[in-house]
Amino acid sequence: MEDKKYKLIRSRFLLPFSEEIGTDTRIEDGYVLTFETKILEAGKYSAEKGDEILNKYKNDLLVVGAERLPQSGKDIPQLRGVTMPGFVKAHGHDHESPLIGIAKDEPLADWLDHAVNLFTGFMNEKNEFLCNKLGMSPNLATYLKARVDDIYYGITSCMVHHCNHNKYKVDEIFKANMQAGTKMIVAVGGQDRHYDERILDKPGEAVRRLDDYLEKYGNSELVRIIPGPDQFFSNGPEQLKSLKKWSRDNKTLIHVHSSEEPRTTEWFKETYKMTPIEYAKSIDFLDENTIVAHQVNNTENDLKILKETGTKVVHNPLANAILGSGMPPIVKMLEMGIPVAISTDGSGSADHQNMILAAKLASQYQKAVNQDARVMPAQQVLEMTNVIPAKFLGYKTGQLRKEYDADIIFLEMTDPHLRPTRIDTLVENLVWCANGSEVTHVIANGKVLLRDRKFTTLDAEDIMEKVELLASLMIQHRETASEITGTGARDQNRR
Ligand SMILES: [Zn+2]
Repeated sequence: MEDKKYKLIRSRFLLPFSEEIGTDTRIEDGYVLTFETKILEAGKYSAEKGDEILNKYKNDLLVVGAERLPQSGKDIPQLRGVTMPGFVKAHGHDHESPLIGIAKDEPLADWLDHAVNLFTGFMNEKNEFLCNKLGMSPNLATYLKARVDDIYYGITSCMVHHCNHNKYKVDEIFKANMQAGTKMIVAVGGQDRHYDERILDKPGEAVRRLDDYLEKYGNSELVRIIPGPDQFFSNGPEQLKSLKKWSRDNKTLIHVHSSEEPRTTEWFKETYKMTPIEYAKSIDFLDENTIVAHQVNNTENDLKILKETGTKVVHNPLANAILGSGMPPIVKMLEMGIPVAISTDGSGSADHQNMILAAKLASQYQKAVNQDARVMPAQQVLEMTNVIPAKFLGYKTGQLRKEYDADIIFLEMTDPHLRPTRIDTLVENLVWCANGSEVTHVIANGKVLLRDRKFTTLDAEDIMEKVELLASLMIQHRETASEITGTGARDQNRR
């Protein structure tokens, strides 16, 4: 189907999440009209509205779900489901896309060694061999698979924490994102201590790397470059200070893992007599442009510091649960006014990029542990996957309203698990009954990326085959590879 400048989507339900009309507004029989990369209007549909749009834009109009241009407003097909803003994923790792199901039931540091670092190290060492086998760089194949995953689950913009070996591979992730058509912030990793020696940064190296990437990609409309030191534990104070200075000088965000699991937090207390957050504050690292992922372990003072500095938290319940890291006190954070978004983390720990399941678990866990069914209702946790993270990332997205980016998804609601759904149960059923795989159409920046579950910008089948081959080769390699034990606080704490 030919692409058009104007696009119209009409569906039985519309959730605009627009702050202009109230983020909890639910519309029955709604529409969104886009022009090029932006939303022109969104609201309640009527046959008169349809006629008006058809008359005005005629041959420049694509009607989602219609084979050819309908004759009149009453012929515009009403899709059976809900149209809403694309999900905004504020923390993930595209390099983990082939790692699903590997090294499960292992704690964080072991999992990093046995899955993530084994895999990224393998791609580095055997790069030439893998390029020949796959017909493309294994890193590119991995990043393309991550784009397939995101689009499949309706994620139209994201922040990728490009850690460990991947800090050298920004060219490939840029290429993958441009091909996919999503929006991305690449938080370029760095580490100068407590890590695989082969990739430790020399003084000044992490900043030079950012300068180079900024010069190369600073003008991109879809990709932004920011510093993303892997975690406080693997970056000494001088490196962190220089990266924070870079982010202040260049007016960018900065992103880091923080207080993810108890042993690292313990190491900080033993070494600095401070928690990781107190340590970060002592080197002037925290402010409203700092986004920390996880922040599982908190003292009263940590929460106070987060609030006072305006630091933003990305909560990744799927990863925190499966790695046995613990769960942050989200209800308390929200009560205190600490900004919190919900995300998946990489596929290696979350095992998928399903934002609905992440939102569901975030809420279910807090309801149970607080013994209070009233906390974190469906509306609130969904806003933590679109409206809130969009603000974190400085994107004009996450809401269907005029002049916002045309980032729109449609979820079909025809299968048994979503019936009956009415306007009064819509948001509740999306969080409690949907499985996240109902997305059939994805539009990002005004471009259709998924149409009737078919990928339009990516050869998804070819990418998945390549990644299957890559994962099999990695598992073969694991048979003979020497064990990596370089990551996390485990070695330092093992007595
Ligand atoms: Zn992470």
